[in-house]
Amino acid sequence: MSTADVTTQPSCADASDPLSLTVQQAIDAIRAALVPIRDQEQVAIRSSLGRVLAEECISPIDVPSHTNSAMDGYALAGADLPPDGVREFRVIATALAGQTVAEVCTAGECVRIMTGAPMPPGTDTVVMQEQAEKVGEAQVRIDAGHRVGQNVRQAGEDIAQGARVFGPGRVLTAADLGVLASLGFAELRVHRRPRVAFFSTGDELRSIGDVLAEGEIYDSNRYSLFALLTEAGVDIIDLGVVRDDRAALAAAFSHASRVADVVITSGGVSVGEADYTKEILANHGKVSFWTIAMKPGRPLTFGQLGQAMFFGLPGNPVAVMLTFHQFVRPALRYLVSGDWPTQLVIEARSRLALKKRPGRFEFVRGILSYDDQGRLSVGPSGAQGSGILTSMSRANCYILLAEDCGGVSEGETVSVQPFSTLL
Ligand code: AMP
Ligand code: MG
Repeated sequence: MSTADVTTQPSCADASDPLSLTVQQAIDAIRAALVPIRDQEQVAIRSSLGRVLAEECISPIDVPSHTNSAMDGYALAGADLPPDGVREFRVIATALAGQTVAEVCTAGECVRIMTGAPMPPGTDTVVMQEQAEKVGEAQVRIDAGHRVGQNVRQAGEDIAQGARVFGPGRVLTAADLGVLASLGFAELRVHRRPRVAFFSTGDELRSIGDVLAEGEIYDSNRYSLFALLTEAGVDIIDLGVVRDDRAALAAAFSHASRVADVVITSGGVSVGEADYTKEILANHGKVSFWTIAMKPGRPLTFGQLGQAMFFGLPGNPVAVMLTFHQFVRPALRYLVSGDWPTQLVIEARSRLALKKRPGRFEFVRGILSYDDQGRLSVGPSGAQGSGILTSMSRANCYILLAEDCGGVSEGETVSVQPFSTLL
């Protein structure tokens, strides 16, 4: 979407904010501008957690590879089970996991079997140890009421040989690593991680370790961004702090766009005297949009810088995290998987009344918990100013107050995005 598109398509969400996109329009514009990374690399299975698969994984074997016992007990032929009363069986062998039994079970015979052991020839059913009565050294008594085929895991019942287990775009989880290991995969072909360069802007920023002079603050955004990027599983290029100076910023922009797929800055996107981000992006790249009808996070400059996508996040520490969660993190996922993740939204009772006027989309930092009646309830995690990072730190969710919402009364149902589910 070009700058012109934005100005000729004003949002009707907020009459006083006609140049802003809605949250959804911003997502659509970002998504339309992204070109998924196609480069691939081979990684060991241990290094593949969270990586995005670039190949089809076809199972070379059946899992389980052989029909085996699900219980410790006695394997026998189901046809031999007593229809009523009790029947005695002679124990002819013992089957342990990882071993095969040569003896063939015939009528009146059974094999002592351990969990995971292959079913011995002539057997198709296992009676649990607890349900068999041992009578003498090699004799057990089994009563009626068992089912033919019970307690047996069939070869290939989990994964059949030749089945497609995972395909390109799959974001690998801990369970996936287990599944792939069970098939004998040692290495996987995955997409290269996005390279993300980021820097803070602002003359007031000092690094940790410096002594603060009047009016100066520590650069906290670099640390929250570093952590957010680490969670997102990308290759991180930390370019430090850049002063509010056109030449220094232009040089940093140019360097960042040459080393990264995505460039992220914080600060300098408001309309103050020293806010140069949008101007420099316009001169050296292309501005797609620069305001979103949302709170916090209204000024967000998005566009293209050389081959890189550019996100100029606001300076306020809360707005940095919120805009990262809502736009940057899904965009990073999209870059490797080709899918814009659907964030989980659940409903909960609002513990308090929440003031809001229709217009912007508001994200309230909240605490989601169960009330004493076991219902999910939610309330603000503290003061909501966009510089108040402690209420972000206490929060475990965003309460979503959409554009048309005109406030929430106590006890009303609201939509909530739990942090733990943000992708
Ligand atoms: P700006 O968008 O540059 O006007 O910044 C908005 C607010 O965020 C100002 O109060 C800045 O001091 C603050 N801010 C900007 N960058 C950072 C940073 N890296 N760490 C902490 N606060 C910041
Ligand atoms: Mg600034």
